Amino acid sequence: MNSRTASCCCGQLHITVHGEPLGVGICHCLACQQRTGSVFAALAAFAGPYEVSGAATEFVRTGDHGSRFRFRFCPLCGSTVFHTEEGRDESSVSVAVGAFADPGFPSPQDSVYDCRRHSWVQLPAGIAVSAKDPP
Ligand SMILES: [Zn+2]
Ligand SMILES: [Zn+2]
Repeated sequence: MNSRTASCCCGQLHITVHGEPLGVGICHCLACQQRTGSVFAALAAFAGPYEVSGAATEFVRTGDHGSRFRFRFCPLCGSTVFHTEEGRDESSVSVAVGAFADPGFPSPQDSVYDCRRHSWVQLPAGIAVSAKDPP
């Protein structure tokens, strides 16, 4: 099966996932903008099992629908690498697309929190757009 490894900027924290992504999406919400330092987040969901190596610092954020997202980032370089959603489908993981350092990574099918999208950000043709986060 096809495997991919995502890594933080300094190479200390890695996650290896298997198979093709369950979905790839981008999020324009303000929390994702502040978390990533970019103007939107790009995330790919993968089914487990997955393997993590290295130390991660965690931050839990509660989303608009009450979901609790546990973000893991590198304590040395600060890169955000992956997160899980507590209580729901804990075997899957969402990985920051940029952490794969692969410009050929599959493109997103979903764009959420369009209400927070910077006006200059152009979306790819055919992507599904939601004003907020669909429940
Ligand atoms: Zn690092
Ligand atoms: Zn977001």
